Amino acid sequence: MNILFVSSEIHPLIKTGGLADVSRSLPLALHQAGVNIRVLVPGYPAVMARLTEPCQPQLLAPELIHTPAQLLQTTLPGTSLPLLVLDCPALFDRPGPSPYQNPQGQDWWDNALRFGALSRIAQHLCSAHSPLEWRPDLLHCNDWQSALAPALLALHGQPTFPTLLTVHNLAFQGNFDALWLSRLGLPVGAFHPEALEFHGQLSFLKAGLRFAQRLTTVSPRYAQEIQTAQFGCGLEGLLHQRQSDLLGILNGIDPEWHPATDPLIAHAYDLSKLASKALNKEALQRHLGLRAEPQSLLVGMVTRLTHQKGIDLVLECLESMMQHPVQVAILGSGDSPTENRLREFSIRHPGRISVTLAFSEPLSHQIIAGSDLLLMPSRFEPCGLTQLYAMAYGTVPLVHRTGGLADTVRDELDADQQAGTGFCFDQPNADALWGTFLRALQCYSHPERWRTLQTNGMRRDSSWEHAAQEYLSLYQSLC
Ligand code: ADP
Repeated sequence: MNILFVSSEIHPLIKTGGLADVSRSLPLALHQAGVNIRVLVPGYPAVMARLTEPCQPQLLAPELIHTPAQLLQTTLPGTSLPLLVLDCPALFDRPGPSPYQNPQGQDWWDNALRFGALSRIAQHLCSAHSPLEWRPDLLHCNDWQSALAPALLALHGQPTFPTLLTVHNLAFQGNFDALWLSRLGLPVGAFHPEALEFHGQLSFLKAGLRFAQRLTTVSPRYAQEIQTAQFGCGLEGLLHQRQSDLLGILNGIDPEWHPATDPLIAHAYDLSKLASKALNKEALQRHLGLRAEPQSLLVGMVTRLTHQKGIDLVLECLESMMQHPVQVAILGSGDSPTENRLREFSIRHPGRISVTLAFSEPLSHQIIAGSDLLLMPSRFEPCGLTQLYAMAYGTVPLVHRTGGLADTVRDELDADQQAGTGFCFDQPNADALWGTFLRALQCYSHPERWRTLQTNGMRRDSSWEHAAQEYLSLYQSLC
């Protein structure tokens, strides 16, 4: 079975969050299971700079996206996973680390055109006019950036071509002025609420939710939640209508996230050598300028600094945390006011609060390995990967019980106390977070209880194998 997997990010070439991790590790797991899968990504500078294999360029017909473009065929560096790169300098050769925003932090003015082009090329590769000999049997799109492709297939005479859209975050919808319709070659007749229109705008995500044959999200709980007004971002009606086509498949984690083999951390360890985790804590404290206090509870966060992630709840608790033997290491970037407030806290509490406002893959591994507790108080969380990484590294997660966090973290107070892997709270407010934090702090003073949580987390199977089989069954049911 041939699968075309389309994504706007792929680790380690370009990453803003979990989408990049999944776009690498799910196709790799499927590739290793014998599926003939190719991943299509845009040729941003960060992608172009890392291509080393021979690339077999295929020119794309100029009328397709109205600007010169070619398709490069290569493999993801360090793997044998086939990669298709949409090389279109006019759309993707842009400065800055973000694939979506200019260096001033504003969305690129022509994102509709950029990701409309990605979707258009994906659709084209599924058609009889594709320049490649390789033809997909199914198109797997991910998030709004490629969600227009199923609509394009339907509108260009292939309504039965098998398509799957995975929603990694419903809050990002790709909604644009309706004027883009003609620039994207979309029929004006399709601009109505039953097709491409969402409150007067052209919505890429809604187009995918409407036209893809099947829909998945990245956890079962989120699949239920998004059918409600609280989590549905205005699309709950459509999602509820399509509930029989909607499935939640929990993400796994890439094998590169393993403390025994991780080259980015100071000291390798596993369950049988858990004492070495303390060496990573010591190395992290030294690296971040935190006091060398082995007994303090070291609290880590690796996150986008946004309302979704509940960073404001953490800000409300930070001063109280400093009344206890606690240290905090935060790695993130996002809203400027939040960044400023975090900076102030780190200045007020030198040696106890470390804030790194950056995107750093090595430091993210070091914080996950060196911390005792990982905070993840997200208001909503489609799956969440960081808590899965934390558990694999014996770092105990404290989470808001929502979405994928609810599906993956078991509170030590839950029915089977011996099976706990972390701490959960139910209401997304600072009081609930604080109460649960005190419970975690108390538990930390009982090494045996803490060790049980660590052990359970490290034994949890977060490999991709199971999820990859579920995707495979879904593909088979569609083809
Ligand atoms: P989301 O995709 O909503 O941001 P996830 O938990 O699903 O959240 O995935 C986040 C991914 O991005 C993880 O791999 C996490 O380690 C990584 N990440 C987030 N912020 C940073 C950062 N500042 N530096 C490095 N990695 C980060």
